[in-house]
Order: sequence, then C-alpha cells, then structure tokens
Amino acid sequence: MARRLPGKIGINTQLTHGGYEPSDYFGFVNPPVVHASTVLFPDAATMSSRGQKYTYGTHATPTTDALTQAVNELEGSAGTILVPSGLAAVTIPLLAFLSAGDHVLIVDSVYFPTRRFANTMLKRLGVEVDYYDPHVGAGISALMKPNTRVVLTESPGSGTFEVQDIPAIAKAAHAGGAVVMMDNTWATPLYFRPLDFGADISIHAATKYPAGHSDVLLGMVSANEACWPKLLEAYTNVGCCAGPDDVYQVLRGLRTMGIRLERHQKSALDIARWLEAQPGIARVLHPGLESNPGHALWKRDFSGASGIFSVVLDGGGQAQSHAFLDALTIFGLGYSWGGYESLAVPVLLGDRTVAKGPSEGPVIRLQIGLEDVEDLKSDLSGALEAARLA
Ligand SMILES: *Cc1c(COP(=O)(O)O)cnc(C)c1O
Repeated sequence: MARRLPGKIGINTQLTHGGYEPSDYFGFVNPPVVHASTVLFPDAATMSSRGQKYTYGTHATPTTDALTQAVNELEGSAGTILVPSGLAAVTIPLLAFLSAGDHVLIVDSVYFPTRRFANTMLKRLGVEVDYYDPHVGAGISALMKPNTRVVLTESPGSGTFEVQDIPAIAKAAHAGGAVVMMDNTWATPLYFRPLDFGADISIHAATKYPAGHSDVLLGMVSANEACWPKLLEAYTNVGCCAGPDDVYQVLRGLRTMGIRLERHQKSALDIARWLEAQPGIARVLHPGLESNPGHALWKRDFSGASGIFSVVLDGGGQAQSHAFLDALTIFGLGYSWGGYESLAVPVLLGDRTVAKGPSEGPVIRLQIGLEDVEDLKSDLSGALEAARLA
C-alpha cells in the first residue's frame, strides 16, 4: 500500500502523507477505522494456509497497517508494533529480548515506571538489572558483562534531560553482543531517528506528541531488520494489541505533529531562556540551551527539541515546590505531556542509584503547551514569587 510519492520527500510531507493509499478505500483521504476480531475466509483451504492478508484482529487491520506503515517510513524501520500504552512499548521489547540469567543495562535517568518494571518483574523472572550514568558514552563497555543482552537508553532522560551519546553506546553495546533500545518519546521521529544512530529498537509513547491532545494512550515500537522477527513474535505471543480508535487518533495526530512541535519547540526554548535569567531559578535543564552540559551532543545528533524540560529552584524544599505548583493557574498539575496544554509536575530523584541529579533545590518539570508565551511567563512569575514567599 505504499503511495506513489516522489522518492525523496521532506519529513513534513512524510508526516502528512505517510502510510495510506486512498485509492484502496474509494478515495477517502483517511483510512477506515476497522473494528475487528474475526476475519472471514472464503474457503477451508485459504483458512488452513492463512492465505490472505488479514486473518484476525490481534494481528493487523487496515487501520493498524496505515499507522505502522507511516511510522516505519518516519523511523526507517523494518517493522512496528502498536500496543495499548507507552509503558507497554517499553516492557514488551524487554520481554522479547531478555531471558532468565541475562543482564540488562538501563540508564539511571529512565522513565520511572520502566525502572519499576525492571526492579520487580524483570528481577522476578531472573534478569540481572544494573543502572548506568546517562553520561557514560563509550565507557559503557566497562559495564558490559558476558550475559548483557540489552542496553536500554532514553535520551534526553526523564525528569533531568541528560543527553546520551547513542552512537558511542551502541558501538560498545554491539561489540558485546547486546541489543540497543531507545525510548525516543522526547524527540519523536521528527527530531531524532534512533536507528540511524545505531539503536536497534525505537520506543515511543505515542500518548505524547503523536496523539497530542491528552486523550489517547498508545505505544509504538519500531525495529530494524535484524530485531524485527523477535519483536513481532513477542507481540504475537503476548496478545497486547491496541484498539482501532486509539490507533486512528494517533494517525490523525501525526498529520499535524510537525506544526505542533514547531510551536512547542519555539515556546519552550523562549521560556527556558527567560527562566534562566529569573531570580529563584538555579538551573534550567533543557538540552537546547547553550549552558546545558548535553548541548553539544544534542546539536550533533538531534534536529530539534520538543516542549518539555525541567527547572531547578534555587534552594528550598517541598514547601517551596508545592507553593510554586499551587500558584500556577494556566499550567495544570498532571502527569504525562505532549498535549496542547501546559503542565507542571515535581520531579522526584530518590530512586536514582548513579546519576543523583541536581541538588540546588527542588526540580519541577514543565510541559510547554500551545498557549501564548507571555501568559505562560506571567503564570511562572507568579509561581516563582509564591516559592520565594513560602
Ligand atoms: C509517558 C512516557 C512513557 C509511557 O507512556 P504511557 O502511554 O503514559 O504509558 C514511556 N516513556 C516515556 C519517556 C514517557 O514519557
């Protein structure tokens, strides 16, 4: 179902047109939302040989094909699975590639529920789990063991936004025979393509920017040629497939993701720069800022920044953090991000083992939405004032 598009097209043309052939469906611009478990076969022979394109709702439908095809084009991947949440997009590839007796290296700045899964279920299944410094780079080879099967990266890291040297890590991990996975939710395939930088598997919480409206949960996992069969096998065995309406909503979101991200990026950088100069702020953790330790790596590898970063308050503790959050009126207090609206959430670093994170004061993560920047700045000014008075 590849469309007859010119061979070389820009990323926004790809986002707008990827993955769907209207002539397959009477010319309608958008694909059908196929609600399906059963698919009928014309006769017993076709049924026994499973000799037709679609066989059962858990495997694939024209709706899931439209999104996986679009994502494969964006990621440069051999195959993509769609699962019910971003967290499932992390846990399923880990289950696919790890067995009892294996060792996994996970970045210490990882999304917290990934750590929780590793520390509970992976350990229970007999997998050895170690965490590494996000700045480790090629130094990861010293942490590799003969049984290291997976190196999980997430760049920039959750909460503190450390940029990882993915090519250096991938080179060392591959030399030790491990598969490299990257949670690429922050950048989206628009601003970073993990497979081009040596990762084997790219993971996305499509809940965030691809869906873009805080109303859908979906995960996507894309693999290169070598890893695709094993990922597909695990997906088929686990039976963890996504619902058609959610899949459709994410495909719909992809069409406008380029223009939304442009705005998120611009507003977030503007606000991050402004915050750096505000009293009461010790540091702003945004890789797009020249002051950020990860800036050079980010500039080398990424083609843009999304709209989420953190600030470190200059001193204080929970009282100041709560005063800041409670004073906000436009920013909502809520988890997740990537929607149209601004959000704030305290970042807790207590579970870190290697990269302890900033110590000057409380860390607060900001998702910059599509509101007017001046309104967001005055909301943040009020919050900083409240933190000062607390
Ligand atoms: C939100 C998030 C996830 C999980 O996505 P859900 O759809 O909320 O389960 C995974 N990784 C990262 C980096 C995230 O920010």
